[in-house]
Amino acid sequence: MTTLDRRRSLGGLALGLAFALAGPVRALASGSTARVGHLRITILDTMVAGNSGLDGEWGFAALVEADGRRLLYDTGASPDMVLHNLRRLRIDLSDVEDVILSHDHADHTSGLLTLRREFSRTNPKALGRCHVATGIFAAREEGDGRPDRNMADLKPAYEALGGTFVVHDAPTELLPGVWFTGPVPRNHNERNWSPGSYLSGPSGRIADTVPEDAALVIDSSDGIVVLTGCGHAGVMNICEQAHAILGPGPIAGVVGGLHLFLNNRASIEATGARLKALGVRRILAAHCTGFEPTWILRQALDATAADVAVATVGSQWISGVGLQTGLLARLGSNP
Ligand SMILES: [Zn+2]
Ligand SMILES: [Zn+2]
Repeated sequence: MTTLDRRRSLGGLALGLAFALAGPVRALASGSTARVGHLRITILDTMVAGNSGLDGEWGFAALVEADGRRLLYDTGASPDMVLHNLRRLRIDLSDVEDVILSHDHADHTSGLLTLRREFSRTNPKALGRCHVATGIFAAREEGDGRPDRNMADLKPAYEALGGTFVVHDAPTELLPGVWFTGPVPRNHNERNWSPGSYLSGPSGRIADTVPEDAALVIDSSDGIVVLTGCGHAGVMNICEQAHAILGPGPIAGVVGGLHLFLNNRASIEATGARLKALGVRRILAAHCTGFEPTWILRQALDATAADVAVATVGSQWISGVGLQTGLLARLGSNP
């Protein structure tokens, strides 16, 4: 049975929104009883290298391993960075058939072609199916009016390599217990995106709120684990979407980029308080979260460095363990 055979969709955007608004009822929300026994998420691309031999950049990618089945989430900012870090980490993606692009920003999409080319030499299906949310192919433009052709150029190039895009307008189970959120309802007015980009339309352009921004939410033995790319939909909205899909329950961990580096202290403190109320216990804060925002979130959650830390390349979320950070994000033992 292929991953595609196993995919189950909640059946359309309207239904997805209805669940989000109706509140979490686990059995109704997902229709799934799957739970991931052992989950490991490995950061492959983020700002901070952390350990010698690995490189960081302004981008994001992570490998998800759920009971031995694997997905790639995002592909980094420069064409070769994720491949470089994979080699250093001795990770082979040739058995990974499904890749997710969280949204249309080049710091998440630019490694796709390199990785498809590299691993399809061993397995023609490797990284051959790319899951995205509705809206990712919308026409966009820069502040000066130049078209932003990131996805417009990537689509035919990926398809020329034998890749297929699968566009989701509602939550979809990609692996047992591993859900792609699809577009996330913006219940809270979080402004976690950078200004200056626009969606093009027949009656003029409008601010680009990155409506396609989508996360993975995982029903794990530790509780719910959320994986975000930039978190443009807002981490509060994403966590609430996790509850809408999986039902109520503690959010054991939030992993990935939260795009809080432009937000002021009051905004971040309010976000932290809401995350605490939603039952968030740990955060592996990557990419565009920001260093200062990470410390503020740590205080808001009454957490320690072991439970809220800056992600480095190679750092992990591991079931039963929590955060496994790189050297640069740890306290040493020297006197
Ligand atoms: Zn980003
Ligand atoms: Zn982004």
